Amino acid sequence: MANTPRFLDKLVNMTSMHDLELMEYSLLKTIEEFIHPHQLLILRFDRNGQPTYRASLKKGQYEIVWEDIHVPDEINTAVEIVSTTKRPFSRHVDHDKMLTVWHVLQPKGQEVFLVTQTKSRLNNLDTHMVNGLLGVYRNFYAVLSESQRDGLTGLPNRKTFEETINKIYFEHSLPTEDVVINRRVQLGEDDKCYWLGMADIDYFKRINDTWGHLYGDEVLLLISQLMQSHFRANDYLFRYGGEEFVIILCAPDLDHARRAFERFRVAVQEYRFPQVGQITMSIGSIKMDPHIFTTTLLDYADKALYYAKNNGRNQVSFYDELLQHGLLEEQKIVTGEIELF
Ligand code: GH3
Ligand code: MG
Ligand code: MG
Repeated sequence: MANTPRFLDKLVNMTSMHDLELMEYSLLKTIEEFIHPHQLLILRFDRNGQPTYRASLKKGQYEIVWEDIHVPDEINTAVEIVSTTKRPFSRHVDHDKMLTVWHVLQPKGQEVFLVTQTKSRLNNLDTHMVNGLLGVYRNFYAVLSESQRDGLTGLPNRKTFEETINKIYFEHSLPTEDVVINRRVQLGEDDKCYWLGMADIDYFKRINDTWGHLYGDEVLLLISQLMQSHFRANDYLFRYGGEEFVIILCAPDLDHARRAFERFRVAVQEYRFPQVGQITMSIGSIKMDPHIFTTTLLDYADKALYYAKNNGRNQVSFYDELLQHGLLEEQKIVTGEIELF
């Protein structure tokens, strides 16, 4: 097998990634090099069968789309079959086009598929290789998501938060390739701002005390689902601590950011939690700025949250607005420069 050393090299590269997104890219890159498909996609569907994510690799161009994803009928039909059988399914879509859909993963109610389109049916060796790569990818996904995600809600955890901030602010080159993943450039959103929101459940201790920890845990899980359905797929959501969540969203101005946070706050207020009934949340937010240390940003968001808690809870407050209205006192920003006298 002349390809074996190259294949092993690729496998080593793929498993050296310690980031789920990079590993997915590396999987596509490896498959592209070995089977040269016309089309190569990863598609993710939510629990209602709606497409929420599409990553494609074509001629070295890696593109990720979170919104308005159109899935052609022939792919949809194949996806439905594979969703049931969990086995690869191939069919001709043209005399020289063979479409194959492969089952990849099923994380937390979602379903992920790989789509390849090749000139002809893949031979046994290639099929075996793609299946093998998917197997390795699945195993590594499980290991990585255990360290990067929170076990109860499946949301990225606090540890992942720092890495994400770096991804947002700085382009990062993939270790093995010269292709650069940059969400802002891909989305044409260079001029947009990011907002950090710290959301905390109001009187959560009472829920545990009254109904017990299991009900408390269920509330955390349902809140994380409300977050995922009310923020956009390309916003970043984290379970930051016990009953604290952090949201990073991209919005052009304060009004848009307020609307996004308010939409979620109202959704929580209107939801009826089993047994527990109504729950509310308070949110403190700050516009993100790459010149301010992350710890300082978090501290400001926390101050805005503290203000919301002390002024009736169930509300969203913005640090800059509180400063403008004289409701908070400005703190000196720690810049890292040494002041001698
Ligand atoms: P406030 O409105 O001021 O935020 O009040 P609170 O009661 O929500 O805040 P407090 O910080 O007093 O209590 C937070 C509670 O969250 C205490 C802790 O037992 C609970 N908690 C933290 N992590 C978990 C978890 O994973 N599961 C459950 N069930 N409870 C948790
Ligand atoms: Mg708290
Ligand atoms: Mg709380």
